[in-house]
Amino acid sequence: MLYNSTRDKTVKLTPSLAILKGLSDDGGLFVPERIPALDKKIEELKDLDYRELAYEILKLYFDDFTKEELLHCINSAYDDKFDTPEIAPLTYADGAYYLELFHGKTIAFKDMALSILPYLMTVSAKKNAVDDNILILTATSGDTGKAALAGFAGVEGTSIMVFYPKDGVSRIQELQMVTQEGDNTSVIGVKGNFDDCQNGVKGIFNDAAFIRQAKEKGCILSSANSINIGRLCPQIVYYFYAYLRLLREGRINEKDRINICVPTGNFGNILAAYYAMQMGLPVSKLICASNDNKVLYDFFGTGCYDRNRDFILTVSPSMDILISSNLERLLYHISGDDTEMTSRLMEALKTGGKYEITEKMREGLSCFEAGFATEEETFDEIKRVYEDTGYVIDTHTAVASAVLRKLRDSLSGESCLVASTASPYKFAGSVIRAIRGKTEEEDIFKLTESLYEISGVRIPDAVSGLKDAPVRHDKTIETADMKKTVGEFLDR
Ligand SMILES: *Cc1c(COP(=O)(O)O)cnc(C)c1O
Repeated sequence: MLYNSTRDKTVKLTPSLAILKGLSDDGGLFVPERIPALDKKIEELKDLDYRELAYEILKLYFDDFTKEELLHCINSAYDDKFDTPEIAPLTYADGAYYLELFHGKTIAFKDMALSILPYLMTVSAKKNAVDDNILILTATSGDTGKAALAGFAGVEGTSIMVFYPKDGVSRIQELQMVTQEGDNTSVIGVKGNFDDCQNGVKGIFNDAAFIRQAKEKGCILSSANSINIGRLCPQIVYYFYAYLRLLREGRINEKDRINICVPTGNFGNILAAYYAMQMGLPVSKLICASNDNKVLYDFFGTGCYDRNRDFILTVSPSMDILISSNLERLLYHISGDDTEMTSRLMEALKTGGKYEITEKMREGLSCFEAGFATEEETFDEIKRVYEDTGYVIDTHTAVASAVLRKLRDSLSGESCLVASTASPYKFAGSVIRAIRGKTEEEDIFKLTESLYEISGVRIPDAVSGLKDAPVRHDKTIETADMKKTVGEFLDR
């Protein structure tokens, strides 16, 4: 299996090199030359546990890894870091199956991929005779930073620096990051906003002299963002896993097609579901759910992607995105792997903030439905699901749940899967507001207690452990000093 760029077919990299590089030099994303078909009948996979299934899927994408190497990555990732051996359990409530992707260390779905990425990277480095230390640089608006820290902490051959806007993340997000353990971690507050952090990191990646100096010190720089195929491919696994579980429990029959509804931001999670479908998972519709930042909803309806609009802050912040990076991969696939077309559309997005796809390409979108939920609909959905079933969902999952309910009658296929992307404990304030009406309480630990009373679901260690965790990172810097700070970290 080789990977080419969405913008250049002559680029051909092995899986391990594509993982190491992250992004193609031409600005494109790496895509498999062809999406592999499952090499077994789905029914044959029915009795596999999460790790065994992960191997069956990932071996098709990362075929330059030996069996031992891949099993090492999978077994190191999906272990008792997760609070259930099922890794991604299913809960039935209100006529849908909620696929809970939040049982990892940071109680959000980013853990599903960021638990394995560090191992994929270190094995990739070894395979390519790179013996430098890999330094991950990440700018975060909150969630990704913590999941990346938790993934890379203590992983030999790597270190990680996370930059976050000092006054731009929630108290719980900040606490999660500054208490991070591990000698190879560093967390830095920046006096600026998320864009300042992001631009600072981009500036470092684009500074050839700095990268050379780092290399001389035995270090290569990399990033952990969601366009790396080392993050995308592991996300395919849980869609198969959920289907197989439904099959095993007799809730669906062989070849029954299911609907999958995904709360979407950067388009990574739903793209993984699209890959699963192309590999042979029986899917009826993929439903792309947006919040008030409904640029994707408009795109699926009109064929025109237009980011020229106001950015709206919502209670589902991980979906507050106007440029969904992974959509580029879908454009490439629905254009018949047309790199020129993909390049042209991406150039139009860069210069004018919008593009329009052809009628022919729109046909490739027929397996998608799209919907959006307003803030009010999101709150109402949390309350309604709770009152009808006792099940408590977070704000992101609620967007998907509300969208599914709106579209339900128009869908064929009996069973619907909702990707449940965060624990309600992660957004306890909003969830309690939805269920109880107003809440004046701001203390995160009191909110957590209240949510426990409401839901009866055990408070995750990721939250309760924060209360007495010592602060290990307390540095705040000016935006202009980011590069200098990375330099100092290299010299330690
Ligand atoms: C990142 C995230 C999303 C969006 O996922 P994408 O892959 O970016 O579309 C949704 N919900 C939560 C809780 C997230 O952290």
